[in-house]
This record gives sequence, structure tokens and C-alpha cells, in this order.
Amino acid sequence: MIIGLISDPHANIHALEAVLQDVDRVRPDISVCLGDFVGYGAFPNEVISTLRERCAISLAGNHDLCVLESPLVPIDSLNEVAAEAVLWTRGRLTSASRDFLLSLSSRAELEGFQLAHASPRDPVMEYVIDAVTAYANFEQEDFEAAVVGHTHVPAVFYVANGDVDGGRIVSPEPEATIGLPGSRVILNPGGVGQPRDGDPRASWGILDTISRTFTVRRIEYPVAQAQAAIVELGLPSFLAERLAVGI
Ligand code: ZN
Repeated sequence: MIIGLISDPHANIHALEAVLQDVDRVRPDISVCLGDFVGYGAFPNEVISTLRERCAISLAGNHDLCVLESPLVPIDSLNEVAAEAVLWTRGRLTSASRDFLLSLSSRAELEGFQLAHASPRDPVMEYVIDAVTAYANFEQEDFEAAVVGHTHVPAVFYVANGDVDGGRIVSPEPEATIGLPGSRVILNPGGVGQPRDGDPRASWGILDTISRTFTVRRIEYPVAQAQAAIVELGLPSFLAERLAVGI
């Protein structure tokens, strides 16, 4: 099965539309959204209504839960600009968007792969950003393969010969395909709506469960349009500025 992996669209409809055009070129058998539909960007309802039609599985991210006022993610657990964006989003979310987010879990399973927004042991909040955190997850949870989002950084972590290794997948041009290494693996397709690895292009992933390969693709999109909407609609200007540099 070819699985399209979309994560962290964060209300950036311009990035999402560019990625979905690329998804249409690749034509995966199924598409999954790993969460954080909302927060940071200016188009939460548009992103939700677009993705709910496209993704067979959708997960709730920490920003989605915070917008819903879930006790799992109190607003003071977010930094100042993220919290401001949550308050902005709460004031604009339609009841249909809210009902959709309320219907989501933060973890699922597909073709033997554990899917979580954040990490296998903490599907809502933990950032699997380094091998130490990956090691803790391999130790505590019984899974062979997992896919997570949340960091907005494409990455692969794996167990080989008893050690945990791996890290960020560096700027593919325009894509990087790797065979799944080791005996156990955690994959991250990077972020669609707010990349944070110094590459402003939107990032999404393709998992081939038969050939056991993982591909990250980076897609240009009209960043200036996403920035203009953020500023015009009164979100913090830093949220516009960071899109230009991918931080
Ligand atoms: Zn996120």
C-alpha cells in the first residue's frame, strides 16, 4: 500500500493546496493527516474542509485539542504566539469544523504502522526530535514501525544492532527516498503548513509498505500569499515572518 502522509497543515491553505496537487501526481492508495489542522495560519476552516474530504484517517494534534479547550492541552502549555493563534482560531472556527476536530483521536494504526500526532508513548505533546527521545519510545512502547508529526522536521529514527540512530532528513531536491532501516523505525514526514528545518518549502511523505521505502517531498508554494493573510487577519506578524525562512 502507498500511504500519503500529511502533517501539521496549521491552517495554511496555500501550502496545503500545493501539496495536494503533488499528492494528485503521486496518487497514493490512501492519505492520512497526522494532526494540527489549525493554529498559526489564517485558514482553519478551509484546511479542515479540504482535508476531511481527502484523508481516510485524521488525527488530532495539540493545537487542535487546545482550540477545543481540551484539558490535555491547556493554553498555557503553548508559547505566546501559539496561544494567541489558538484564541484567534477559537473565534473563527465553524461548528462543522469544531465537530470534525472533536471526532478525532490522536493515534491510529494502519498496515502495521502506529500513527500518532506526537510520539508513540505520548501521542499529543512529546517531540521526537532526537535519538534519545526515540530511544525512550522504543524502550517503553511495543511497536515495530510508527509515523509521527508534531516537530515539523522530516526525520527517520531506527533501531539497528541494539542502538538507536537517525535524525533529520536533510533538504531533498525535490525528494529523498530511503529504505526503512533497522528492525524498528519512527518516521516523520515534516510539516505542510509551517516547516521548521530551515527549508521554507512544504513537506509531505510517502510510505510504501510493500517495498518498505519512505519518501519525503518538498513543495514550493506562494509563501507571500499565506503571509499576507496572516497579517491582514490580525495574527501575530512573527507567524508570517517565520514562513519565509522555515523556522
Ligand atoms: Zn504542529
